[in-house]
Amino acid sequence: MRKLVIYNSLSRTREEFVPLSPPHVGLYVCGPTVYGDPHLGHARPAITFDLLFRYLKHLGYKVRYVRNITDVGHLENDADSGNDKIAKKARLEQIEPMEVVQYYTNRYHEAMNRLNVLPPSIEPHASGHIIEQISMVEKIIEAGYAYESNGSVYFDVEKYDKNHNYGKLSGRKTEDLLSNTRELEGQHEKRKPFDFAIWKKADTSHIMHWPSQWSEGFPGWHLECSAMSAKYLGERFDIHGGGMDLLFPHHECEIAQSVAATGHETVKYWMHNNMITVNGQKMGKSLGNFINLEDFFSGANELLTSAYSPMTVRFFILQAHYRSTLDFSNEALQAAEKGLKRLMAGVRTLAKISPGKKTSFEPDKIINPAFEAMDDDLNSPIAIACLFDGVRIINSLSDNKESINEEDLLRFRSFYQTLVFDILGLMDEDIQENTQAAGKLVDLVLSIRNDAKSKKDFATSDKIRDELKALGIVIKDGKDGVAWDWE
Ligand code: ZN
Repeated sequence: MRKLVIYNSLSRTREEFVPLSPPHVGLYVCGPTVYGDPHLGHARPAITFDLLFRYLKHLGYKVRYVRNITDVGHLENDADSGNDKIAKKARLEQIEPMEVVQYYTNRYHEAMNRLNVLPPSIEPHASGHIIEQISMVEKIIEAGYAYESNGSVYFDVEKYDKNHNYGKLSGRKTEDLLSNTRELEGQHEKRKPFDFAIWKKADTSHIMHWPSQWSEGFPGWHLECSAMSAKYLGERFDIHGGGMDLLFPHHECEIAQSVAATGHETVKYWMHNNMITVNGQKMGKSLGNFINLEDFFSGANELLTSAYSPMTVRFFILQAHYRSTLDFSNEALQAAEKGLKRLMAGVRTLAKISPGKKTSFEPDKIINPAFEAMDDDLNSPIAIACLFDGVRIINSLSDNKESINEEDLLRFRSFYQTLVFDILGLMDEDIQENTQAAGKLVDLVLSIRNDAKSKKDFATSDKIRDELKALGIVIKDGKDGVAWDWE
């Protein structure tokens, strides 16, 4: 098996990936909080960890990929106070919180589908794991790292820090946190302002709450990932991923909770994708530069000069290394669109190349560096550059300026199939579009045949049937009309 090197955000070094119990790999990635339309910010972590999921499978691992749905406890401003994001939306739209959850979960799935992001192996909801979260709060209290205050339970950061070093992922120190914390509502319940809630007592306005020994309430946002990763991947697992924006406080608190509850580190490798900026600016609802994925696909957003297909968005993201920032601009997307068309045209040309007696170039000089780049912390931009080097050769093959023997041709085709479609997860949208258009043409021709038949012009009707058959389209006359299929 080839050696995969990944950057571990916890050790801040590149490390060889060695799973805890090969060939099995446990992968946990923080999924969306489902209270709004899926946007560009959702696409990057989804595509980054889809690439990792696909590549690990390509390397022969059996991956259990868990990506959660946050549907409770994520309060505004990621803080311990304020409204629950989902409950707020539910109140605004006068529907049940679970209707909000279902609606936006469906929207998220649709968008991910169009981006050809594979579904995870397990997609647990926070609201479906309240019992597991309550039991984790109990364990943390038992271990002495949490305390109850007025029906809520808070994590004792200072005590934890003495024994386990709080802040090792983000590099933040508790002293810095102390000077940076503002006075917020509910603060008087905490021993120290940087303590965070793992169970919150629900006030009267709070519509999502569950009974517990402490109060009628709800779990803190960070707790779900500690509880659900332990449930589905065990108390020690391989990779935890997410966007860099989750590094603090979410992942830092997750580590503290899991270590407090189990007494040991639970995650071997932490991986974080970098953020997307829009014309050099951070993306955010308040900045008015939030672009929904559906807007990309339809072009209905004033920041967009045209619509961009799902594969253009995917290719645009894959053209940057996942740990680099990626700046959205129309120019960058147009370049991605052009590049993707050139790549797909190359793949189609390769399918039509006939083998010659000998190979005039070295296919390994394209193939090996591409996989070496993928082994090097998923360096997709370099792997894509190798694919373009290959496209130049494919065009020369097509012009008979280069030649390739049968064995190398099969190997070259399989390389493109594997890297472009299986690993990078791209699809040839031109073929899809052409197939759809061809389908509509067949329907049109069949309606003309129907008219001919109803006028008893059987000569024309039979001619259409025979000529379609010659094109590989079979039609079947049935009681309920005409059905057709590609042969
Ligand atoms: Zn999480």
